[in-house]
Formats: sequence, structure tokens, C-alpha cells
Amino acid sequence: MPYDLIVIGSGPGGYVCAIRAAQLGMKVVVIEKDKTFGGTCLNVGCIPSKALLHASDLYDEAGHQFERMGIRLGKPKLDLAGMMKFKDEGVEGNVKGVAFLLRKNKIESFEGIGRIAGAGMVEVTAGGGKSERLETKAIVIATGSDVARLPGIEIDEKRIVSSTGALSLAKVPERLLVIGAGVIGLELGSVWRRLGSEVIVIEFLDRILPGMDNEVCRQFHRMLEKQGMTFQLSSKVTEVATSGRTLRASVAPANGGTTQSIEADVVLVSVGRVPYTEGLGLDGVGVKKDNKGRVIVDARFATNVAGIHAIGDVIAGPMLAHKAEDEGVAVAEMLAGQAGHVNYDAIPNVVYTAPEIASVGKTEEELKEGGIAYKVGKFPFTANARAKINLETEGFVKILADAHTDRVLGVHILGADAGNMIAEAALAIEFGAAAEDIARTSHPHPTLTEAVREAALAVDKRAINM
Ligand SMILES: Cc1cc2nc3c(=O)[nH]c(=O)nc-3n(C[C@H](O)[C@H](O)[C@H](O)COP(=O)(O)OP(=O)(O)OC[C@H]3O[C@@H](n4cnc5c(N)ncnc54)[C@H](O)[C@@H]3O)c2cc1C
Repeated sequence: MPYDLIVIGSGPGGYVCAIRAAQLGMKVVVIEKDKTFGGTCLNVGCIPSKALLHASDLYDEAGHQFERMGIRLGKPKLDLAGMMKFKDEGVEGNVKGVAFLLRKNKIESFEGIGRIAGAGMVEVTAGGGKSERLETKAIVIATGSDVARLPGIEIDEKRIVSSTGALSLAKVPERLLVIGAGVIGLELGSVWRRLGSEVIVIEFLDRILPGMDNEVCRQFHRMLEKQGMTFQLSSKVTEVATSGRTLRASVAPANGGTTQSIEADVVLVSVGRVPYTEGLGLDGVGVKKDNKGRVIVDARFATNVAGIHAIGDVIAGPMLAHKAEDEGVAVAEMLAGQAGHVNYDAIPNVVYTAPEIASVGKTEEELKEGGIAYKVGKFPFTANARAKINLETEGFVKILADAHTDRVLGVHILGADAGNMIAEAALAIEFGAAAEDIARTSHPHPTLTEAVREAALAVDKRAINM
């Protein structure tokens, strides 16, 4: 008997889609080419990186802040193998969790490469080369993304690493050269700086974290420099020579000019990610891709071929786990005849450094560009009681509200725990709240969230604690 749905890929997009479809009564299969479920996010992305960020942050704190709070431990000593074990256990717990959820929802799974053999037909080829064909009413492509590479710079995952290699280095590099000042470069650069590396970041553009609010990024850039990271903006790495004991990167101005050589023990290539469709057989069935290799879908996640849908990193939009999950739920509901929904204006974005950056909605630059009149409410953590006692006063909350209607259009937080705090702002945008609504909502004291309320009050120039 044919299946109702075959999902190819078990990352946050794929496994969540499969579970939602099973909840809605569909007979579902998940195909995963890797040994474990969970995709990039659980195996080599969100989860291991956050485990290392958490552990390295505590290590850093123990060495710097603990004494100020009256905790004397002596100089903390790093057990890198132990920290990696902690990270691996975190990954294992999470991927096993996905396996449990698939079983619980009676979702069949196949280990192997899924290839779309025709409308309603997927061929699975296991490691040994044995293949079988599965019939289905609908197919969801959730094959995610892979690291973007730079021409002429070969990633060996030992000395020249992608994010995957940077999550498992056997020793702390004396000097780490990071190519690309995006989220992944800054997060993993932070990990290794805290563990003792000298970190140099080379960025092609004239700013870090392109696409995020300028004011936030300018301040954050200064904070990272204060922490000891070095930046070379408007620059490009053209080559990395590997013959010597240390690597030699050739760095040139972005627009061309004199090249300088920078030595490093490890080079991290973090210049973005590209959609992954290898082996899927898209050309054979005629599924169209755009010029960036992303599967083209309409508002219902349908490709140009009937019965084939796509979600997550493999389609356009921010490459984020929760965006993939939201799309997974939406497409499953649409396939079941319901009205699935993803609000792309309310997808939060977090950089898990210290302090964190979190944002949702429009940046000031986008509002200016769109000719939208807006008001700004800002509140610094130096004026927040909890931030003061926690010694976490860096940063601020900025709320952008429509000048005429007061509706919240964007929220940008630079500060400790910004990633948790942004959820309130995402809800506000999702509900079409005004800054006044946040300002009138009781926030617990003493918490960092009070800074969000104060920023909302500041939109109307009536912050209390400033
Ligand atoms: C270092 C790092 C840190 C990150 N941190 C965060 C974070 O903190 N927060 C966040 O939101 N996002 C983060 N991301 C991004 C996040 O991991 C992705 O956005 C998310 O995993 C995308 O989910 P997906 O389901 O679309 O694809 P993926 O998670 O990439 O999963 C795709 C799956 O499909 C499988 N597959 C591919 N082709 C086939 C085939 N033909 N047959 C069978 N299986 C196949 C793959 O093996 C993979 O398991 C991070 C990424 C990296 C690299």
C-alpha cells in the first residue's frame, strides 16, 4: 500500500513535518542518509555549537567573574577531551530523542539516500548499495544545506575546517583564522577564543553580521574586540598554503591590492551554507531550482512538479532550524487540507555569543529603505537591576514601532540571554501588538525582561528607570 507522505531528510524541517503529518493521521516515512536523525542542527549545528558555547562561557566566567562574586576556585583548567565528551553526549541525547519521537508517532524510517524516481516514487539506496522503491501520495524534500566552500581552499576538517571540524578540534589552536564574520564564524570564534586561541576574523564586507541591525552590530563589534578578537574587514582570503607546520593565509583587500600573509594553526571557513540536493534526482523529474541552487516553491511549499514539496534550508529564506520546523508543520497541515501558516516577518534570529544578539522583524535600515515612518525606544542594560547584580550590563534593547499606529515592527536585543528574551518580541509581532501593549504588560522583577518593557515605554518617551 502506498504511503501518504515520504519526507527526505530528518533535520528539524523533516522530522517535525513527519511528526505533524502522523498526528494528522497520515502514513509517513522518513528517509535519512546519515546514521543518526536530526540533520545538521542536531548533529553538527545548533546543538553541538551551543553545548560548546555554554561550556566555554562557564570556563571563561570561572576565570574572570567568579572571584568578584566571592567564589574562589583557583585558575580553571581546561579538559578539552572532557568538554568534547560533554558536547557529544548532548548531541546523542537529542538525536536519540528524535528516534524516540519517530517511533512514538509510528513513523517508518529508512537509512539511505533518497532519490525521487518519478511522481509518487522514491528510491532508497542503503550503504551497501541495496535499493528499494517506495510509493507515496506526496513527497517533502527536507534535505537541508551543506557548508559553502571557497575556490582553491580545500577543507580537510583538521587544519582547514568548516563548522563541522571546528566543533571537534583535538587541541586548542594557538591562532585561529576565521574566514567570514557571520553567525557561525563569530560563535565558533568565540568558543575557541574563550578556550585560549588568538582569533583573527577576516570579512569581505565592511561590517560584521551582514543583514542584522547596524547599530547593534557596531556596538557588538567593539565588544568582541574588547574580548580580544581581531577583525580585518573589507578583506578576502585568496589562498591558504598548507606546506609548512603552520598555515599561511594570503589576505588581500576586498577590491584587490597588496596581499599580506597571516599565519595560523587552524583556518575556519565560515562563509555561509548552500542548499543540498545531491543525489535527489531533481533534474530527472524536472524540479526547478533558482540560481543559488535552492528548490523553487510557491506559498504552499509546492515545487513545479505535482506532489513534490520542499521546506527548510533547501528553499529560500533564513537558514534557521525554527524556520525549517515552522515550514514542516505548515506543509504537513496543508497536505492534510488545513491552512498551514508561516509568518516570515516574525522569525527570530539569534547569535549565541556573549553577550547574545537577538532580533525579530525589521531593522532600522529596512524601515528607512521601505520609507516607513517609525519611532525608536531604547533601554540599556546598565539601567536594569538584574543585569547590574549579574554583572551583565553590556548592551541594550531597541524597539522599532510604527510612527502612526505604534505597531511593533522590529525588536533588537544585544545583551545576556537575548535569545530567550526575543520570544516575547516574536509573540508581540505575531499578535500585531503595539509598543503600548508590551509597555502595559506586567514583567517580573527583577529580570532582564524588564528592559524589554522599558524599551517599549521609551518608544513613547516614558521609560521609568532611565
Ligand atoms: C554550526 C552551525 C550552527 C547552527 N546553529 C543554529 C542555531 O543556533 N539556531 C538555528 O536556528 N539554526 C542554526 N543552524 C542552522 C540549522 O542547523 C539549519 O537551519 C537547520 O538544520 C535546517 O534544517 P533542515 O531540516 O532544512 O536541514 P538539515 O538539518 O540540514 O537536515 C537535512 C537532512 O537531510 C539529509 N539528506 C540530505 N539529502 C538526503 C537524501 N538524498 N536522502 C536522505 N537524506 C538526505 C541530511 O543527511 C540531513 O540529515 C546552525 C548551523 C550550523 C552549521
